Amino acid sequence: MNDYYDKVLGTRIGRSVLGSLGFPTPVELRRPDGERGVFLSGSVLLGASEDAALQDYLVRCLAASEARVCIPAGCGHAARILAAAGREKLDIDPVECSQEALSERFSALVFDATGIETAAQLNQLHGFFHPVMRNLDHCARVVIVGRRPEDAPDAEAAAARAALEGFCRSIAKEIGKRGATANLVRVEDGAGGMLDGPLRFLLSPRAAYVDGQVLTVTGAPEPPDFDPAQPLAGRTALVTGASRGIGEAIARTLARDGARVIGLDIEAAADDLDAVMADIGGKPVVADITHEKAPRYISQKLADAGGGDIIVHNAGITRDKTLANMPEAWWEQTLDINLGAVLRINERLLADDVIAEHGRIIGVSSMNGIAGQVGQSNYAASKAGVIGWVRHLAADLRDSRITVNAVAPGFIETQMTAAIPMVTREIGRRMNSLSQGGVPGDVAEAIAFFAEPGSAGVTGNVLRVCGQCVVGA
Ligand code: NAD
Repeated sequence: MNDYYDKVLGTRIGRSVLGSLGFPTPVELRRPDGERGVFLSGSVLLGASEDAALQDYLVRCLAASEARVCIPAGCGHAARILAAAGREKLDIDPVECSQEALSERFSALVFDATGIETAAQLNQLHGFFHPVMRNLDHCARVVIVGRRPEDAPDAEAAAARAALEGFCRSIAKEIGKRGATANLVRVEDGAGGMLDGPLRFLLSPRAAYVDGQVLTVTGAPEPPDFDPAQPLAGRTALVTGASRGIGEAIARTLARDGARVIGLDIEAAADDLDAVMADIGGKPVVADITHEKAPRYISQKLADAGGGDIIVHNAGITRDKTLANMPEAWWEQTLDINLGAVLRINERLLADDVIAEHGRIIGVSSMNGIAGQVGQSNYAASKAGVIGWVRHLAADLRDSRITVNAVAPGFIETQMTAAIPMVTREIGRRMNSLSQGGVPGDVAEAIAFFAEPGSAGVTGNVLRVCGQCVVGA
Protein backbone atom coordinates (compact mmCIF):
# COMPACT_ATOMS: atom_id res chain seq x y z
CA MET A 1 0.00 0.00 0.00
CA ASN A 2 2.96 2.24 -0.59
CA ASP A 3 1.12 5.07 -2.32
CA TYR A 4 0.44 8.76 -1.93
CA TYR A 5 -2.71 8.31 0.17
CA ASP A 6 -0.87 6.09 2.61
CA LYS A 7 2.03 8.53 2.83
CA VAL A 8 -0.44 11.25 3.81
CA LEU A 9 -2.11 8.87 6.27
CA GLY A 10 1.29 8.17 7.78
CA THR A 11 1.45 11.69 9.25
CA ARG A 12 -0.70 12.86 12.15
CA ILE A 13 -1.77 16.03 10.35
CA GLY A 14 -2.51 14.07 7.18
CA ARG A 15 -4.76 11.68 9.13
CA SER A 16 -6.53 14.53 10.81
CA VAL A 17 -7.14 16.41 7.51
CA LEU A 18 -8.32 13.29 5.66
CA GLY A 19 -10.50 12.26 8.60
CA SER A 20 -12.15 15.68 8.82
CA LEU A 21 -12.87 15.54 5.08
CA GLY A 22 -14.63 12.20 5.59
CA PHE A 23 -11.93 10.08 3.92
CA PRO A 24 -11.42 6.62 5.43
CA THR A 25 -8.42 6.13 7.72
CA PRO A 26 -7.79 2.37 7.68
CA VAL A 27 -6.29 0.56 10.64
CA GLU A 28 -3.42 -1.87 10.16
CA LEU A 29 -4.93 -5.35 10.00
CA ARG A 30 -3.55 -8.08 12.25
CA ARG A 31 -2.20 -10.82 10.00
CA PRO A 32 -0.11 -13.95 10.60
CA ASP A 33 3.52 -13.13 11.15
CA GLY A 34 5.23 -15.71 8.96
CA GLU A 35 3.84 -18.58 11.05
CA ARG A 36 0.25 -19.83 11.24
CA GLY A 37 0.29 -18.68 14.86
CA VAL A 38 -2.36 -18.98 17.57
CA PHE A 39 -5.85 -18.77 16.11
CA LEU A 40 -7.43 -16.78 18.93
CA SER A 41 -6.27 -15.08 22.12
CA GLY A 42 -7.73 -12.35 24.35
CA SER A 43 -11.31 -12.74 25.58
CA VAL A 44 -14.12 -14.27 23.57
CA LEU A 45 -17.79 -13.87 24.46
CA LEU A 46 -19.83 -16.95 23.60
CA GLY A 47 -23.61 -16.84 23.37
CA ALA A 48 -26.45 -18.93 22.06
CA SER A 49 -30.07 -18.52 21.08
CA GLU A 50 -32.80 -20.56 22.76
CA ASP A 51 -32.73 -24.14 21.49
CA ALA A 52 -29.39 -23.62 19.76
CA ALA A 53 -27.81 -26.92 18.79
CA LEU A 54 -24.10 -26.43 18.21
CA GLN A 55 -22.70 -25.08 21.48
CA ASP A 56 -20.79 -28.32 22.13
CA TYR A 57 -18.81 -27.84 18.91
CA LEU A 58 -18.22 -24.16 19.61
CA VAL A 59 -16.96 -24.88 23.12
CA ARG A 60 -14.64 -27.64 21.83
CA CYS A 61 -13.19 -25.25 19.27
CA LEU A 62 -12.70 -22.39 21.73
CA ALA A 63 -11.15 -24.74 24.28
CA ALA A 64 -8.33 -25.29 21.78
CA SER A 65 -7.66 -21.53 21.55
CA GLU A 66 -5.67 -19.37 23.94
CA ALA A 67 -8.65 -17.14 24.62
CA ARG A 68 -10.42 -16.63 27.92
CA VAL A 69 -13.97 -17.80 27.23
CA CYS A 70 -16.79 -15.72 28.72
CA ILE A 71 -20.58 -15.94 28.68
CA PRO A 72 -23.05 -13.20 29.55
CA ALA A 73 -23.79 -13.46 33.30
CA GLY A 74 -27.29 -14.68 34.06
CA CYS A 75 -27.80 -15.78 30.46
CA GLY A 76 -30.78 -18.13 30.41
CA HIS A 77 -29.23 -20.63 28.00
CA ALA A 78 -25.89 -21.21 29.66
CA ALA A 79 -26.54 -24.71 30.98
CA ARG A 80 -25.52 -26.51 27.80
CA ILE A 81 -22.45 -24.31 27.31
CA LEU A 82 -21.36 -24.96 30.90
CA ALA A 83 -21.94 -28.71 30.55
CA ALA A 84 -19.85 -28.79 27.36
CA ALA A 85 -17.15 -26.69 29.04
CA GLY A 86 -17.07 -29.20 31.91
CA ARG A 87 -16.42 -32.04 29.47
CA GLU A 88 -13.63 -30.02 27.81
CA LYS A 89 -12.21 -29.03 31.23
CA LEU A 90 -12.61 -25.41 30.17
CA ASP A 91 -13.18 -22.61 32.68
CA ILE A 92 -15.89 -20.22 31.59
CA ASP A 93 -16.17 -16.74 33.08
CA PRO A 94 -19.58 -15.06 33.37
CA VAL A 95 -19.36 -11.32 32.65
CA GLU A 96 -21.97 -8.69 33.37
CA CYS A 97 -23.08 -7.62 29.88
CA SER A 98 -24.69 -4.23 30.20
CA GLN A 99 -23.35 -1.16 28.43
CA GLU A 100 -22.97 0.55 31.82
CA ALA A 101 -21.17 -2.28 33.63
CA LEU A 102 -18.95 -3.67 30.87
CA SER A 103 -15.32 -2.57 30.66
CA GLU A 104 -13.94 -5.83 29.24
CA ARG A 105 -12.65 -5.77 25.62
CA PHE A 106 -13.43 -8.78 23.43
CA SER A 107 -11.23 -10.19 20.69
CA ALA A 108 -14.20 -12.19 19.42
CA LEU A 109 -17.95 -12.62 19.75
CA VAL A 110 -19.32 -16.03 18.80
CA PHE A 111 -23.06 -16.63 18.68
CA ASP A 112 -24.87 -19.90 18.02
CA ALA A 113 -28.05 -18.76 16.27
CA THR A 114 -29.15 -22.23 15.16
CA GLY A 115 -32.24 -22.04 17.39
CA ILE A 116 -33.61 -18.93 15.66
CA GLU A 117 -36.60 -20.15 13.65
CA THR A 118 -39.16 -17.32 13.94
CA ALA A 119 -39.17 -13.59 13.29
CA ALA A 120 -39.75 -12.90 16.99
CA GLN A 121 -36.69 -14.95 17.96
CA LEU A 122 -34.48 -12.57 15.98
CA ASN A 123 -34.75 -10.26 19.02
CA GLN A 124 -32.16 -12.55 20.61
CA LEU A 125 -29.55 -11.11 18.23
CA HIS A 126 -30.13 -7.67 19.70
CA GLY A 127 -30.08 -9.14 23.20
CA PHE A 128 -26.63 -10.68 22.77
CA PHE A 129 -24.85 -8.18 20.53
CA HIS A 130 -26.23 -4.75 21.46
CA PRO A 131 -24.62 -4.46 24.93
CA VAL A 132 -21.15 -5.48 23.72
CA MET A 133 -20.70 -3.82 20.31
CA ARG A 134 -18.67 -0.96 21.81
CA ASN A 135 -16.38 -3.43 23.55
CA LEU A 136 -14.73 -4.99 20.52
CA ASP A 137 -10.95 -4.91 20.24
CA HIS A 138 -9.23 -3.66 17.13
CA CYS A 139 -9.26 -6.45 14.52
CA ALA A 140 -11.83 -8.41 16.56
CA ARG A 141 -13.85 -11.24 15.03
CA VAL A 142 -17.59 -11.79 15.04
CA VAL A 143 -18.77 -15.22 13.94
CA ILE A 144 -22.45 -16.16 13.81
CA VAL A 145 -23.45 -19.77 13.29
CA GLY A 146 -26.83 -20.49 11.72
CA ARG A 147 -28.84 -22.97 9.69
CA ARG A 148 -29.34 -23.02 5.91
CA PRO A 149 -32.55 -21.28 4.76
CA GLU A 150 -33.00 -23.85 1.98
CA ASP A 151 -33.37 -26.63 4.60
CA ALA A 152 -35.93 -24.72 6.71
CA PRO A 153 -39.11 -26.57 7.73
CA ASP A 154 -41.37 -23.61 6.86
CA ALA A 155 -41.35 -20.14 5.33
CA GLU A 156 -40.98 -18.29 8.64
CA ALA A 157 -37.96 -20.38 9.60
CA ALA A 158 -36.45 -19.70 6.17
CA ALA A 159 -36.98 -15.98 6.74
CA ALA A 160 -35.43 -16.08 10.22
CA ARG A 161 -32.42 -18.04 8.98
CA ALA A 162 -31.93 -15.70 6.01
CA ALA A 163 -32.20 -12.66 8.30
CA LEU A 164 -28.89 -13.64 9.92
CA GLU A 165 -27.11 -12.77 6.66
CA GLY A 166 -28.40 -9.20 6.53
CA PHE A 167 -27.61 -8.76 10.22
CA CYS A 168 -24.10 -10.12 9.85
CA ARG A 169 -23.27 -8.06 6.77
CA SER A 170 -24.54 -4.91 8.50
CA ILE A 171 -22.52 -5.29 11.66
CA ALA A 172 -19.49 -6.09 9.49
CA LYS A 173 -19.93 -2.64 7.97
CA GLU A 174 -20.29 -1.05 11.41
CA ILE A 175 -17.12 -2.57 12.90
CA GLY A 176 -14.90 -2.53 9.79
CA LYS A 177 -13.39 0.83 10.62
CA ARG A 178 -11.75 -0.89 13.60
CA GLY A 179 -10.30 -3.57 11.35
CA ALA A 180 -12.84 -6.00 12.82
CA THR A 181 -14.79 -8.49 10.71
CA ALA A 182 -18.10 -10.37 10.93
CA ASN A 183 -18.93 -13.57 9.06
CA LEU A 184 -21.74 -16.12 9.04
CA VAL A 185 -21.32 -19.90 8.91
CA ARG A 186 -24.35 -21.88 7.79
CA VAL A 187 -24.30 -25.47 8.95
CA GLU A 188 -26.34 -28.24 7.37
CA ASP A 189 -28.20 -30.48 9.85
CA GLY A 190 -25.79 -33.14 11.07
CA ALA A 191 -22.66 -31.31 9.89
CA GLY A 192 -21.75 -29.74 13.25
CA GLY A 193 -18.65 -31.93 13.43
CA MET A 194 -17.31 -30.08 10.40
CA LEU A 195 -17.46 -26.65 12.08
CA ASP A 196 -14.08 -26.66 13.75
CA GLY A 197 -11.91 -25.86 10.70
CA PRO A 198 -14.09 -23.00 9.40
CA LEU A 199 -14.40 -21.51 12.91
CA ARG A 200 -10.68 -21.60 13.57
CA PHE A 201 -10.03 -19.90 10.25
CA LEU A 202 -12.64 -17.16 10.57
CA LEU A 203 -11.60 -16.36 14.15
CA SER A 204 -7.91 -16.13 13.26
CA PRO A 205 -5.67 -13.37 11.89
CA ARG A 206 -5.47 -15.54 8.74
CA ALA A 207 -8.97 -14.29 7.82
CA ALA A 208 -8.01 -10.60 8.17
CA TYR A 209 -9.52 -9.63 4.79
CA VAL A 210 -12.50 -12.05 4.79
CA ASP A 211 -15.41 -9.90 5.87
CA GLY A 212 -19.20 -9.95 5.57
CA GLN A 213 -19.13 -13.44 4.05
CA VAL A 214 -21.32 -16.51 4.30
CA LEU A 215 -19.64 -19.89 4.39
CA THR A 216 -21.66 -23.10 4.12
CA VAL A 217 -20.64 -26.29 5.90
CA THR A 218 -22.28 -29.50 4.78
CA GLY A 219 -22.31 -33.08 5.98
CA ALA A 220 -19.12 -35.03 5.57
CA PRO A 221 -17.39 -37.81 7.44
CA GLU A 222 -15.20 -36.76 10.33
CA PRO A 223 -11.97 -35.21 9.03
CA PRO A 224 -8.84 -37.31 9.53
CA ASP A 225 -6.52 -36.45 12.39
CA PHE A 226 -3.93 -33.88 11.44
CA ASP A 227 -1.33 -31.65 13.03
CA PRO A 228 -2.87 -28.15 13.36
CA ALA A 229 0.61 -26.59 13.04
CA GLN A 230 1.33 -28.44 9.75
CA PRO A 231 -2.10 -29.46 8.44
CA LEU A 232 -0.85 -30.12 4.91
CA ALA A 233 2.10 -32.31 5.87
CA GLY A 234 2.53 -35.15 3.39
CA ARG A 235 0.31 -33.51 0.76
CA THR A 236 1.28 -32.45 -2.74
CA ALA A 237 -0.07 -29.19 -4.12
CA LEU A 238 -0.04 -27.93 -7.70
CA VAL A 239 -0.21 -24.12 -8.00
CA THR A 240 -0.45 -22.51 -11.44
CA GLY A 241 0.94 -19.00 -11.94
CA ALA A 242 3.22 -19.53 -8.94
CA SER A 243 6.13 -17.23 -9.86
CA ARG A 244 4.70 -13.99 -8.47
CA GLY A 245 1.74 -12.17 -6.94
CA ILE A 246 -1.06 -14.21 -5.47
CA GLY A 247 0.29 -17.50 -6.87
CA GLU A 248 3.64 -16.99 -5.16
CA ALA A 249 1.87 -16.26 -1.87
CA ILE A 250 -0.25 -19.40 -2.27
CA ALA A 251 2.85 -21.52 -2.91
CA ARG A 252 4.62 -20.06 0.13
CA THR A 253 1.59 -20.46 2.40
CA LEU A 254 0.89 -24.06 1.39
CA ALA A 255 4.59 -24.86 1.93
CA ARG A 256 4.46 -23.19 5.35
CA ASP A 257 1.59 -25.52 6.21
CA GLY A 258 3.62 -28.57 5.23
CA ALA A 259 2.70 -29.22 1.57
CA ARG A 260 5.15 -30.25 -1.15
CA VAL A 261 4.51 -27.63 -3.83
CA ILE A 262 4.70 -28.04 -7.57
CA GLY A 263 4.74 -24.50 -8.94
CA LEU A 264 3.87 -23.92 -12.59
CA ASP A 265 4.38 -20.85 -14.74
CA ILE A 266 5.22 -19.76 -18.29
CA GLU A 267 8.72 -19.74 -19.79
CA ALA A 268 9.04 -15.94 -19.41
CA ALA A 269 8.57 -16.34 -15.64
CA ALA A 270 10.92 -19.33 -15.27
CA ASP A 271 13.67 -17.48 -13.36
CA ASP A 272 11.27 -16.05 -10.81
CA LEU A 273 9.55 -19.42 -10.53
CA ASP A 274 12.88 -21.18 -9.90
CA ALA A 275 13.73 -18.67 -7.18
CA VAL A 276 10.38 -19.10 -5.38
CA MET A 277 10.51 -22.90 -5.61
CA ALA A 278 14.13 -23.00 -4.41
CA ASP A 279 13.11 -20.91 -1.42
CA ILE A 280 10.27 -23.23 -0.35
CA GLY A 281 11.73 -26.58 -1.45
CA GLY A 282 9.16 -26.82 -4.25
CA LYS A 283 9.40 -28.19 -7.78
CA PRO A 284 9.20 -25.78 -10.74
CA VAL A 285 7.28 -26.81 -13.85
CA VAL A 286 7.40 -24.56 -16.90
CA ALA A 287 4.32 -24.74 -19.10
CA ASP A 288 1.73 -22.56 -20.76
CA ILE A 289 -1.60 -23.82 -19.45
CA THR A 290 -3.29 -23.04 -22.78
CA HIS A 291 -0.94 -25.26 -24.78
CA GLU A 292 -2.79 -28.23 -26.27
CA LYS A 293 -0.37 -30.65 -24.60
CA ALA A 294 -0.57 -28.93 -21.19
CA PRO A 295 -3.32 -31.11 -19.67
CA ARG A 296 -1.48 -34.36 -20.40
CA TYR A 297 1.91 -32.87 -19.43
CA ILE A 298 0.65 -31.56 -16.07
CA SER A 299 -1.16 -34.82 -15.37
CA GLN A 300 2.08 -36.71 -15.98
CA LYS A 301 4.00 -34.37 -13.63
CA LEU A 302 1.45 -35.07 -10.90
CA ALA A 303 1.55 -38.81 -11.55
CA ASP A 304 5.38 -38.67 -11.27
CA ALA A 305 4.95 -36.96 -7.89
CA GLY A 306 2.66 -39.77 -6.70
CA GLY A 307 -0.56 -37.80 -7.35
CA GLY A 308 -1.85 -34.41 -6.28
CA ASP A 309 -3.88 -33.62 -3.18
CA ILE A 310 -4.42 -29.91 -3.76
CA ILE A 311 -4.94 -28.32 -7.17
CA VAL A 312 -4.96 -24.52 -7.26
CA HIS A 313 -5.96 -23.01 -10.61
CA ASN A 314 -4.52 -19.54 -9.99
CA ALA A 315 -2.88 -18.45 -13.28
CA GLY A 316 -4.86 -15.64 -14.87
CA ILE A 317 -4.61 -12.47 -16.90
CA THR A 318 -6.51 -9.28 -17.59
CA ARG A 319 -6.78 -7.69 -21.04
CA ASP A 320 -8.99 -4.68 -20.36
CA LYS A 321 -10.90 -2.62 -22.91
CA THR A 322 -14.56 -1.76 -23.30
CA LEU A 323 -16.28 -4.31 -25.49
CA ALA A 324 -16.60 -1.84 -28.37
CA ASN A 325 -12.81 -1.51 -28.43
CA MET A 326 -11.82 -5.05 -27.54
CA PRO A 327 -9.84 -7.01 -30.12
CA GLU A 328 -11.03 -10.57 -30.62
CA ALA A 329 -7.58 -11.86 -29.65
CA TRP A 330 -7.79 -10.20 -26.20
CA TRP A 331 -11.22 -11.69 -25.67
CA GLU A 332 -10.13 -15.17 -26.66
CA GLN A 333 -6.84 -15.13 -24.77
CA THR A 334 -8.45 -14.03 -21.50
CA LEU A 335 -11.26 -16.59 -21.74
CA ASP A 336 -8.82 -19.35 -22.62
CA ILE A 337 -6.25 -18.74 -19.86
CA ASN A 338 -8.73 -17.93 -17.08
CA LEU A 339 -11.39 -20.51 -17.89
CA GLY A 340 -10.88 -22.79 -20.89
CA ALA A 341 -7.47 -24.08 -19.80
CA VAL A 342 -8.67 -24.59 -16.22
CA LEU A 343 -11.54 -26.77 -17.41
CA ARG A 344 -9.38 -28.80 -19.82
CA ILE A 345 -6.60 -29.42 -17.30
CA ASN A 346 -8.93 -30.31 -14.48
CA GLU A 347 -10.90 -32.71 -16.65
CA ARG A 348 -7.68 -34.48 -17.61
CA LEU A 349 -6.51 -34.74 -13.98
CA LEU A 350 -9.82 -36.28 -12.94
CA ALA A 351 -9.90 -38.63 -15.93
CA ASP A 352 -6.33 -39.78 -15.18
CA ASP A 353 -7.22 -40.23 -11.49
CA VAL A 354 -4.22 -38.22 -10.31
CA ILE A 355 -6.23 -36.24 -7.74
CA ALA A 356 -6.18 -38.05 -4.42
CA GLU A 357 -9.18 -39.11 -2.37
CA HIS A 358 -9.98 -36.17 -0.04
CA GLY A 359 -8.43 -34.00 -2.77
CA ARG A 360 -9.00 -30.27 -2.96
CA ILE A 361 -9.71 -28.40 -6.19
CA ILE A 362 -9.59 -24.64 -5.79
CA GLY A 363 -10.43 -22.04 -8.41
CA VAL A 364 -9.54 -18.36 -8.37
CA SER A 365 -12.46 -16.21 -9.44
CA SER A 366 -12.76 -12.47 -8.85
CA MET A 367 -15.09 -9.94 -7.33
CA ASN A 368 -15.44 -8.50 -10.84
CA GLY A 369 -16.67 -11.89 -12.00
CA ILE A 370 -19.56 -11.43 -9.56
CA ALA A 371 -20.22 -7.73 -10.07
CA GLY A 372 -19.00 -7.09 -13.62
CA GLN A 373 -16.67 -4.20 -14.46
CA VAL A 374 -16.33 -1.62 -17.22
CA GLY A 375 -13.61 -2.76 -19.59
CA GLN A 376 -13.60 -6.31 -18.21
CA SER A 377 -16.37 -8.10 -20.09
CA ASN A 378 -13.87 -10.81 -21.09
CA TYR A 379 -12.31 -11.11 -17.62
CA ALA A 380 -15.63 -11.00 -15.76
CA ALA A 381 -17.13 -13.62 -18.08
CA SER A 382 -14.18 -15.92 -17.43
CA LYS A 383 -14.27 -15.41 -13.66
CA ALA A 384 -18.06 -15.86 -13.44
CA GLY A 385 -17.50 -19.03 -15.44
CA VAL A 386 -15.11 -20.25 -12.73
CA ILE A 387 -17.90 -19.83 -10.17
CA GLY A 388 -20.41 -21.81 -12.24
CA TRP A 389 -17.83 -24.53 -12.82
CA VAL A 390 -16.89 -24.83 -9.14
CA ARG A 391 -20.50 -25.11 -7.98
CA HIS A 392 -21.37 -27.76 -10.54
CA LEU A 393 -18.22 -29.81 -10.05
CA ALA A 394 -18.61 -29.71 -6.25
CA ALA A 395 -22.02 -31.34 -6.60
CA ASP A 396 -20.69 -33.87 -9.13
CA LEU A 397 -17.80 -34.88 -6.85
CA ARG A 398 -19.66 -34.92 -3.54
CA ASP A 399 -19.52 -38.73 -3.28
CA SER A 400 -15.80 -38.86 -4.11
CA ARG A 401 -14.90 -36.70 -1.09
CA ILE A 402 -13.00 -34.29 -3.31
CA THR A 403 -14.02 -30.75 -2.40
CA VAL A 404 -14.25 -27.94 -4.95
CA ASN A 405 -14.27 -24.27 -3.91
CA ALA A 406 -13.20 -20.88 -5.19
CA VAL A 407 -11.90 -17.66 -3.77
CA ALA A 408 -13.08 -14.39 -5.28
CA PRO A 409 -10.46 -11.77 -4.43
CA GLY A 410 -11.39 -8.12 -4.30
CA PHE A 411 -8.70 -5.47 -4.61
CA ILE A 412 -5.38 -7.19 -3.88
CA GLU A 413 -2.06 -5.33 -4.06
CA THR A 414 -0.16 -7.07 -6.90
CA GLN A 415 1.50 -6.18 -10.20
CA MET A 416 -1.91 -6.76 -11.81
CA THR A 417 -3.57 -4.01 -9.73
CA ALA A 418 -0.47 -1.76 -9.75
CA ALA A 419 -1.12 -1.40 -13.50
CA ILE A 420 -4.58 0.17 -12.91
CA PRO A 421 -4.70 3.99 -13.42
CA MET A 422 -4.11 5.87 -10.13
CA VAL A 423 -7.59 7.31 -9.47
CA THR A 424 -9.42 4.08 -10.37
CA ARG A 425 -6.91 2.15 -8.28
CA GLU A 426 -7.44 4.40 -5.26
CA ILE A 427 -11.22 4.05 -5.48
CA GLY A 428 -10.97 0.27 -5.87
CA ARG A 429 -8.68 0.05 -2.87
CA ARG A 430 -10.88 2.00 -0.46
CA MET A 431 -14.41 0.84 -1.37
CA ASN A 432 -14.70 -1.81 1.31
CA SER A 433 -15.52 -2.02 5.00
CA LEU A 434 -11.83 -2.13 5.95
CA SER A 435 -10.95 0.87 3.69
CA GLN A 436 -7.84 -0.76 2.26
CA GLY A 437 -6.62 -3.26 -0.31
CA GLY A 438 -5.81 -6.83 0.62
CA VAL A 439 -2.41 -8.46 0.21
CA PRO A 440 -1.66 -11.68 -1.72
CA GLY A 441 -1.25 -13.52 1.58
CA ASP A 442 -4.92 -12.87 2.42
CA VAL A 443 -6.01 -14.83 -0.66
CA ALA A 444 -3.39 -17.49 0.03
CA GLU A 445 -4.69 -18.01 3.57
CA ALA A 446 -8.24 -18.59 2.28
CA ILE A 447 -6.90 -21.12 -0.20
CA ALA A 448 -4.85 -22.85 2.49
CA PHE A 449 -8.04 -23.03 4.56
CA PHE A 450 -9.92 -24.77 1.71
CA ALA A 451 -6.96 -27.14 1.35
CA GLU A 452 -6.89 -28.26 4.99
CA PRO A 453 -8.17 -31.64 6.20
CA GLY A 454 -10.43 -29.69 8.59
CA SER A 455 -12.32 -28.24 5.59
CA ALA A 456 -13.77 -31.60 4.53
CA GLY A 457 -17.28 -30.18 4.99
CA VAL A 458 -16.60 -27.08 2.89
CA THR A 459 -17.44 -27.60 -0.77
CA GLY A 460 -19.16 -25.57 -3.47
CA ASN A 461 -18.32 -22.33 -1.67
CA VAL A 462 -17.17 -19.12 -3.32
CA LEU A 463 -15.44 -17.12 -0.63
CA ARG A 464 -14.85 -13.45 -1.34
CA VAL A 465 -11.58 -12.15 0.03
CA CYS A 466 -12.43 -8.51 -0.43
CA GLY A 467 -12.74 -6.75 2.95
CA GLN A 468 -16.51 -6.64 2.22
CA CYS A 469 -16.15 -4.59 -0.94
CA VAL A 470 -19.31 -2.69 -1.75
CA VAL A 471 -19.04 -3.82 -5.39
CA GLY A 472 -21.22 -6.84 -6.05
CA ALA A 473 -21.91 -7.35 -2.34
P1 NAD B 1 -0.16 -11.78 -11.70
O1 NAD B 1 -0.27 -11.23 -13.08
O2 NAD B 1 0.74 -11.10 -10.74
O3 NAD B 1 0.18 -13.34 -11.74
C1 NAD B 1 -0.44 -14.22 -12.64
C2 NAD B 1 0.50 -15.38 -12.91
O4 NAD B 1 -0.12 -16.25 -13.86
C3 NAD B 1 1.82 -14.91 -13.50
O5 NAD B 1 2.89 -15.54 -12.82
C4 NAD B 1 1.73 -15.36 -14.94
O6 NAD B 1 2.99 -15.62 -15.54
C5 NAD B 1 0.88 -16.62 -14.82
N1 NAD B 1 0.26 -16.95 -16.10
C6 NAD B 1 -0.37 -16.13 -16.96
N2 NAD B 1 -0.71 -16.79 -18.07
C7 NAD B 1 -0.30 -18.07 -17.92
C8 NAD B 1 -0.36 -19.22 -18.75
N3 NAD B 1 -0.93 -19.18 -19.96
N4 NAD B 1 0.19 -20.38 -18.29
C9 NAD B 1 0.76 -20.43 -17.05
N5 NAD B 1 0.85 -19.35 -16.25
C10 NAD B 1 0.33 -18.18 -16.66
O7 NAD B 1 -1.67 -11.78 -11.16
P2 NAD B 1 -2.23 -11.88 -9.67
O8 NAD B 1 -2.74 -10.53 -9.30
O9 NAD B 1 -1.28 -12.57 -8.78
O10 NAD B 1 -3.51 -12.79 -9.94
C11 NAD B 1 -3.54 -14.19 -9.68
C12 NAD B 1 -4.97 -14.66 -9.86
O11 NAD B 1 -5.83 -13.91 -8.99
C13 NAD B 1 -5.51 -14.45 -11.27
O12 NAD B 1 -6.32 -15.54 -11.63
C14 NAD B 1 -6.33 -13.19 -11.13
O13 NAD B 1 -7.33 -13.10 -12.10
C15 NAD B 1 -6.89 -13.35 -9.74
N6 NAD B 1 -7.33 -12.10 -9.11
C16 NAD B 1 -6.45 -11.13 -8.79
C17 NAD B 1 -6.93 -9.97 -8.19
C18 NAD B 1 -6.02 -8.85 -7.75
O14 NAD B 1 -6.51 -7.87 -7.21
N7 NAD B 1 -4.71 -8.95 -7.95
C19 NAD B 1 -8.28 -9.80 -7.92
C20 NAD B 1 -9.14 -10.83 -8.28
C21 NAD B 1 -8.67 -11.98 -8.86
